[in-house]
Formats: sequence, C-alpha cells, structure tokens
Amino acid sequence: MITKHKINSKDVFITEKHHHNLIPWGYGKQNYGDLILFTLDDHIDTHEPFLSYAYNQQENKIDEHKVKDELDKINYKDILTIKNAIPKLENDEQIKTAIKTNIIEKCFIISYSNSSDSPKSFEEKKYLDNNFIDGNINYPTRPFTYPDTEIYIPENICSVGCKAAPHNDSCRIPHFNQCLESVFWEHKLGIMEEMNSKLINRGVFLRDYILDIDLDYFHTRESISPSDANIFYSIINKSKFITITKEEDFIQEWARVCKYDENLEVDYLLEKLLKHIDYATK
Ligand SMILES: [Zn+2]
Repeated sequence: MITKHKINSKDVFITEKHHHNLIPWGYGKQNYGDLILFTLDDHIDTHEPFLSYAYNQQENKIDEHKVKDELDKINYKDILTIKNAIPKLENDEQIKTAIKTNIIEKCFIISYSNSSDSPKSFEEKKYLDNNFIDGNINYPTRPFTYPDTEIYIPENICSVGCKAAPHNDSCRIPHFNQCLESVFWEHKLGIMEEMNSKLINRGVFLRDYILDIDLDYFHTRESISPSDANIFYSIINKSKFITITKEEDFIQEWARVCKYDENLEVDYLLEKLLKHIDYATK
C-alpha cells in the first residue's frame, strides 16, 4: 500500500489512494509532533470521515454514532489503528479524518475545485451581505482578513495574470500549466499568509508541515515542468517530509476522457516529481 523512499535526506512516501496517506501522516505526528498539512490536489478531499461507510441508506443520513465509534478507534500512537480504518475510508475523507483524530492540526489545500477562498474573508462576506441591499458597492480588494479555522483553501479560479473576463475554456490548459510556477506560488502563499499569518510569513511556513501531492493535481505533462521552480523547490526543501499519492484512475481520466493531454501517465508524473525532489534537496 505504501512505499518509502529517501531522496537525499528527505523521506518520501508513495501510495496508490489518497486516504492511504493517513499512515505516513500518523508516523509524522509520532516523530515530529504537531504538523500542518499542505496538500496539492485536483479535488479538495474534504468529505466527512467515514461518510460512505457510515451512510445509512434506509434513513438517508449519516449514522453519527458509527462515525464516532470509528474515529474513537483511531489513535495515532498506534499505527495499526490507522491501518484498520483505511478500508472503511474513501479517497476524499482523509483530511477531516486526520484533523478529527489529531494526526494533523490544520491544513492548506491548493485545488482546482475551489474558485473562491474558503473560508470567505470578512471583507468579501460584508460585500456580499451589503451588496444584496445596495448593488453599487465596489468589490473589496486585498489584503483580506479571515476567521480562524482548520482548513484553508485559497481561490484558484484561473492562472495568475489571466485577463479573460469571464474566464473560459481557453483558460484551462494555461491554468493547469502554471501549477508549479513561482508566479503561481507567490499568489497562493500571499493569500495563505492573509488567511493565517501565524502559520505563514513572507511565503515561509512558520510551523513544521507535510507536503502532500496528489498526482491528479497535474493535468498535462507540461504542468510538471515549470520554467521557474524556485519557490516550489523551497516548499519541497522546507517540508518535514513528503507524501505522494498516485490516484491513477484520475490521471487516466485527464488523458483519455477529458483529453487534456492524451500522453499523460502516472509513471511519467512520478518520475518527474521525484526528480524535482532530488534537485530541490541536493
Ligand atoms: Zn482565465
């Protein structure tokens, strides 16, 4: 289920499905204490723990007792309890499971599923509330302030600098291909700092973090070969360790169904990513 690699001095864990990463995250908690998760993923993967397993079809609702029982069984000090939970979890339930079982403390997600910030800033919320009454108020501009929360997801509506209004189908591939570029990270890390300046300052994490990468974050071969990878290399370098999940079905979907890049393959992406990690940690 998991392979462990050491690239220079960096531990790298590779899994098939995203929720399998709970196991190396559990080891991380044991070895390093409190950790932030920084995850790159096509999807936001924030479904409730055991949502699928504990769903009562007859009553058409979640069996909350069943969820609590399963969460109570997980103790990060005993990795076997995490392993036992894996077959009962789906590959979009791992983040809230990790938070609710104290395996991770807080999480930042860079995803293609979120066009606006989550949580919403106080400024945007005020605008949306007031604009309902008075349609003449201008949309607020950054910097914004945000409520304290556990999961932060910066907006990722289009590539940084895109002038198309509205953004459209022709934006999609350039947006995908910017996903490791420094210009992209400057923008996202800036928002993340506005979201919680106690965790990030001047683009640098102030706390130990796991860099977690779902390969379905990459939609084209070009997307994993940035022209300027300096900030990405710094993110790799400063991470406590790295978890990578293959999620091969989605890569195949990007290539064969969506046809973003018909030659996109998991092995290609994995090899490229491991080379980046090697280069960044030399
Ligand atoms: Zn656009």
